[in-house]
Amino acid sequence: MIFFRTSSKNHRRCKITSAMLVFLLLFAAGTLSGCEKETASVSKTGFFLDTVVSITLYDTENTSPLEECFSRLASYEKLFSRTQEGSDVWRINHSDGNPVEVSTETADLLEKALSYCRLSDGAFDITIAPVLTLWNFDADQKTGTVPDESDLIDALSHVGYKNIQLDGTTVTLLDPDTSIDLGGIAKGYIADLLKEDLVSAGYTSGIIDLGGNILTIGSKPHGQDFRIGVRTPKPDATQPLTTISCRNASVVTSGTYERYFIENGKRYHHILSPFDGHPVENGLASVTIFSEHSVDGDALSTACFVLGPEKGMALIESLDGIEALFVTDDLEMKPSSGWPDATT
Ligand code: ADP
Ligand code: MG
Repeated sequence: MIFFRTSSKNHRRCKITSAMLVFLLLFAAGTLSGCEKETASVSKTGFFLDTVVSITLYDTENTSPLEECFSRLASYEKLFSRTQEGSDVWRINHSDGNPVEVSTETADLLEKALSYCRLSDGAFDITIAPVLTLWNFDADQKTGTVPDESDLIDALSHVGYKNIQLDGTTVTLLDPDTSIDLGGIAKGYIADLLKEDLVSAGYTSGIIDLGGNILTIGSKPHGQDFRIGVRTPKPDATQPLTTISCRNASVVTSGTYERYFIENGKRYHHILSPFDGHPVENGLASVTIFSEHSVDGDALSTACFVLGPEKGMALIESLDGIEALFVTDDLEMKPSSGWPDATT
């Protein structure tokens, strides 16, 4: 995603339509087992983080935790946005190489993000911002710009996570023209924080859906697993490609179908190679990560997409407790060794 752009009402409507699809898939999958007693639940949907956000809690009629979650979403947005003037990330990006003091949350998120930059050997790189800006994706309008190759080469010279020096809560850009974009990881990080709060407050059943990044709390109200649909990675798909059963798990997908534009018959999507500055083309249409924590799922779904099916799978197989489903352009599914069995 491009993180936190301002959106017109029209944009919002569009995004609501696409996220509702994910939501519906989730619930279609969730209700297949039928005949369950009605359970009390509360739910709230809104537009944050440049996407539709929806939180549902079961076994309660109390809406105040939802209000609390939404107010926290607004405060995280104020820290992590690349475009909101005065945010931590905005201040770093406009620091001209001077040290910047950031919140503990921003420092913690940067530390996690940098660990994924290193783990993926720079395939995941949060300094992709100079390149991302040139492409100028607008998911709702399906517009963007194919940059001049010379501009891309210039922007790429400022991409490099090693240009970020993080010392406690002090951030310094070693190259003042480097800039940070947390769109590939922030939603997952925020989902984990929201869940932590809800669990500490005693909630044991719910779903946090940040634009299709799904994090489940506990199990369904009567103790069964949640059943989560993995979206078919085509722009107009209405049916899930597969569904999985899980409890207390995160299911996050990165794909070519959500944020892209078409020019001269060619599709340009928003997952960019930090090596050549172009949308990654490696035969993949999506990567879904199944993990306990959503921050891992978010970073790894983007990282594995860039790494491609072979290197991406090798990385997943080297990590404990993390599984992946790689889906090719012709919808072939390549699951990792511990990917949960499909449910019917
Ligand atoms: P989504 O918003 O669909 O969940 P992802 O989690 O796959 O998307 O992240 C894609 C977003 O991550 C892009 O919109 C951009 O903000 C950022 N990004 C793009 N390419 C990279 C990359 N190679 N490394 C890190 N972040 C990236
Ligand atoms: Mg991601």
